[in-house]
Amino acid sequence: MQTDAAVVVDIPGRGKGLKAARKITSGESILSDLPILIAPNDDGEFCSACLRTLAGRNDTVACRDCGQATFCSSNCERLARQDPAGHSPAVCRVLARLDTHGLSAESIATLHFLVQAQALFMASAHEDTARGRWAAFAGLTGAADSKARDSSDLFRRLSTATFSAQLPHMAGGRPFTPEEVADAVAKEELNGYGIMAPSGPEGERNIRGTALYPNASLINHECLPNVARTDNFDAPDVQAPNNTAVHFKALHDLPAGEEFTQSYFPLHVSYPMRQQRCQEQYGFKCSCPRCKEESTWPEDDEADDLGEEDTMETEGEAEPAAREAEMMGDAEEGEERADAGYIQVFLLKYVCPQADCFGTLVPTQPGSSVQECNMCGCQRTEAQFLADLEAAHSQDTMAAA
Ligand SMILES: [Zn+2]
Ligand SMILES: [Zn+2]
Ligand SMILES: [Zn+2]
Ligand SMILES: [Zn+2]
Repeated sequence: MQTDAAVVVDIPGRGKGLKAARKITSGESILSDLPILIAPNDDGEFCSACLRTLAGRNDTVACRDCGQATFCSSNCERLARQDPAGHSPAVCRVLARLDTHGLSAESIATLHFLVQAQALFMASAHEDTARGRWAAFAGLTGAADSKARDSSDLFRRLSTATFSAQLPHMAGGRPFTPEEVADAVAKEELNGYGIMAPSGPEGERNIRGTALYPNASLINHECLPNVARTDNFDAPDVQAPNNTAVHFKALHDLPAGEEFTQSYFPLHVSYPMRQQRCQEQYGFKCSCPRCKEESTWPEDDEADDLGEEDTMETEGEAEPAAREAEMMGDAEEGEERADAGYIQVFLLKYVCPQADCFGTLVPTQPGSSVQECNMCGCQRTEAQFLADLEAAHSQDTMAAA
């Protein structure tokens, strides 16, 4: 891995993980990752190759051959054609012939992803760069590592005529076996990052597509994470393919040896929902310090969204800065239980304050006290955070009275 900040380690009971190789400063990027494969959400709003927003661009190009891909520029189209797992001629031919009649949008997206994965696999037989990317793909957590999944209608259809009859038209190599199809689908489910675009004017969530990164999934889940993912898919430099990179940035200072953790879903998600998603989607039970504490909360409160909790401990009368200092020094040592006050301050500090955004606030620069939302891009200064903290504190004091 191309970083001096992180080192891969075996973590008892959790498989592999990533630890701080040295002391890490708040806001520092500890890992940057380029995708193995990008599966676009084919609704025509985003570039089929690099996922840039197409609106407002005057140089977009639609694929004349399949009519199912649009690119942000002719340069991007050229790069996508050369990429075996992108919109290569082989992928284009298969997409043009694909029978998706009666399939849901989600199934069609999975089918397209499989076509790209299959193309990468076939190219790996005779191309060096494809071989490296395929090895990275093969190394991702897949079906064998996760609990048994039910065979969806998609899997049945894919492993019968719909899928296998279409893929042999790709040159070279053999098509996936049904087991390999199931494994690829599991890899996407377990490792794929949904790449979000800023919300629309009505607050609607737009998903650009799904991307698989070779190293990102080495960072294990925790509900009080210490790193968060940032990206810049709408970066203006059309020539640079690097707009698809993701960066994992430290939310606060970390000592050497600390395990890096990310949250697989937005921080505000309630305890029962987090437990359900960890179990059903990722096949593990989360017993992180936050879950340990929240498992003891009465159920009514767990359903509440951030800001509506009414059972926070008020922790005496410490000044906001002191309360924050206390919080940053606390909640160490993975297996302990976080206290309710810490959890509330953590959420106040890191959940984007914009209504319905639910992004994570990340320091803009190493050591900076200014935070920026990784979803909507809004910024907050330390002074604004302390004011928010004070407001929440006095609200709780009033509620308690
Ligand atoms: Zn593009
Ligand atoms: Zn095409
Ligand atoms: Zn948890
Ligand atoms: Zn936001």
